[in-house]
Amino acid sequence: MSILKTQRCCVFCGEKPKDKNREHVIPRWLMDITGGRKKPFDVQMEPKAGEKIKSKIATDKFVSPSCTECNSIYAALENEAKAAMAVLLNQTTLTGKQANSLLDWFDKVRIGLFINNMMLNKGGYITDPHFFIDQRIAAKDRCLLIYKLDEAKDTKGIAIISTNDHSFYDSPTSFILIVNDLLFINISSDFLFSERMGFPYPTSPEIADGKFMADEFSAKFRLFETISRLKYHRPNIELFQSIVDLKIVSAEHNSMLNNKYILDNSLQMNPLRSKVCAKIGSRYRFIDDGGVIPFGLVPKNKSKDMISHAIRLYEIKNQLLKSLYDTYPSGHDFLNRNILYNSRQLVVWNTYKLASTFVKKKT
Ligand SMILES: [Zn+2]
Repeated sequence: MSILKTQRCCVFCGEKPKDKNREHVIPRWLMDITGGRKKPFDVQMEPKAGEKIKSKIATDKFVSPSCTECNSIYAALENEAKAAMAVLLNQTTLTGKQANSLLDWFDKVRIGLFINNMMLNKGGYITDPHFFIDQRIAAKDRCLLIYKLDEAKDTKGIAIISTNDHSFYDSPTSFILIVNDLLFINISSDFLFSERMGFPYPTSPEIADGKFMADEFSAKFRLFETISRLKYHRPNIELFQSIVDLKIVSAEHNSMLNNKYILDNSLQMNPLRSKVCAKIGSRYRFIDDGGVIPFGLVPKNKSKDMISHAIRLYEIKNQLLKSLYDTYPSGHDFLNRNILYNSRQLVVWNTYKLASTFVKKKT
């Protein structure tokens, strides 16, 4: 049984909360710029037997238990994310430092939603989490795709897609956050981008008992023309970062870590954290802390609506699961169950898409 069903856990450290506090998984500063703290948003929890589906909850009531100290550690990150979000909503240039903070913040929100949603969904199927926020900030390769939604002009609000379903409870690797007219796709998984970013990657990784393992590592020491094989619509901004946990890289690979390419393009050595990589014009580049990332233009015929991005998100989830067949030989049941689940979600979203096309044609 999930520990979340039997006891209260701090959303950051996973322990029994010390000096109990409450963490707003959707922070108050974000509520304040999206229509206020009382505004309800859709959560769609599974009901307990005989209970109605809880679908709306006031944003301010969306809270998880936490220790006071754990909570205060993240105050600085919240301030940095707030500044970065203001820049994005104004469609001005983001700095490399802000992009790096924003990626940390998306890890925090994604894992916060994972713990918080399962806690709220005690009556339904929930897993036993092996990690909380502290263990997953900057722990794996990650990316953030940022889109301006044309159809959402002048609207205010928050929406979250795909953090309250079985496949997210099984592995919270990706989700969509919508903030007013901006849509964010956040994806994080082991060594998803390292190879194509020229950073160390495992040549024959394996997952056993749910744990990622690798003996042999290699590195290309150059940036590829395309960093991700995942299929997504053209974003206004795309950010990639390689994160390598050096605990799993044995000492015999040390020379790799001292290569000039790695030293020049890293922010931190343990875990090894690359500089943020962004697409500027038609090329990817590593961005220094003070370097700038412009809010790119997407031609009108390439600009997609929210439903199209949701469809892409579920396709990406299945692409990620299918890529693990060789790595995770004992996990095929797990992978197939989640692929099936995501495929059902795809049917639902594709039906929305058809319905919306029909309405548009009629008017
Ligand atoms: Zn704590």
